[in-house]
Amino acid sequence: MSLKKSFAAASMLAGAMTAMSFMSAGAAQAQGELVMYCAVQEEWCRAMTTAFERETGIKVSMTRKSSGEIYAQVKAEAANPRADIWWGGTGDPHMQAAEEGLTEAYKSPKMSELQDWAVRQWEQSKQRTVGIYSGALGFGYNTDLAQSKKTGDLKCWADLLKPELKDEVQVADPNSSGTAYTLLATIIQIMGEDKGFEYLKALHKNVNQYTKSGAAPAKATALGETTVGIAFMHDVVTMVVDKAPVKVVAPCEGTGYEIGSMSIIKGAKNLDNAKKFYDWALTPDAQKLGAAAKSYQVPSNKNTPVPPQAPKLSDVKLINFDFAKYGSSEERKRLLSKWDNEVKNLP
Ligand code: PLP
Repeated sequence: MSLKKSFAAASMLAGAMTAMSFMSAGAAQAQGELVMYCAVQEEWCRAMTTAFERETGIKVSMTRKSSGEIYAQVKAEAANPRADIWWGGTGDPHMQAAEEGLTEAYKSPKMSELQDWAVRQWEQSKQRTVGIYSGALGFGYNTDLAQSKKTGDLKCWADLLKPELKDEVQVADPNSSGTAYTLLATIIQIMGEDKGFEYLKALHKNVNQYTKSGAAPAKATALGETTVGIAFMHDVVTMVVDKAPVKVVAPCEGTGYEIGSMSIIKGAKNLDNAKKFYDWALTPDAQKLGAAAKSYQVPSNKNTPVPPQAPKLSDVKLINFDFAKYGSSEERKRLLSKWDNEVKNLP
């Protein structure tokens, strides 16, 4: 081969290599990124982020906040959305965001694999949010502290008003926490609004702190910082699995439950990646990461094994929770403002 020919061949090869490297840079770029707001436990949020990045090459920027805080942030950013996907947390703020047009309708090919309660959430929100897990509300109590304070067995919501529990009950603030909003809606559905607010005012006398996050009271109970923590039963189970002296209670009067949800943000800058995450998050492989991160909810895909530690919903006296009513924008705003005025500001 002449020098000229070999130079030409070399330059063709170089050109081809440059084109290939452009292609691979382009391919890497096309995988792009995803901004996720995550409302479950930090450990589970991190496990989802890492697994999705590994599976797809998409870089995830994740922020963990409580359910009500994410709703407030999504609303504040509506004119210029920062996040693409809102994964986890109780369904009520997802429903409120759907009604206010802050989230996007989407039908995943995975819908046919989901439990009825997950599909109902999607239908009620006009396809703007979908159920990803479910779990019942309850409370946990530290058996060592209960013994030293002579509280007796605690089995019912009514037991939490015992004078022996003065300053010994911890629960989150329903403005920031979906767990605590589920309590507010549950008590009203069991007792009626007037008696329900009387109960919450009486409970206030025993509350030592309204935390920001819904899972914090379960942790505080395990650490012996409070005798009782009101939380989702699966959050209390996590403490029992870690060998804390804590008893999980499904209240005798009955209790509410959550449909943990997922929504795509309206105006998402990485819409295709948000849809990829959404489809993946509904698969059994993704849903199994919950139990691996010690979160023992009931998963929404029928083919995801229910963790053996998950409280059996069939053994709990569940109320017929009205998700549409208590997730509606008007009702949620009204109840939160009434709780602020009539309960939180009491001495
Ligand atoms: N963590 C777990 C394990 C949950 O099940 C839920 C409810 O969806 C949350 C966190 C939500 O927390 P918060 O009450 O802080 O909004």
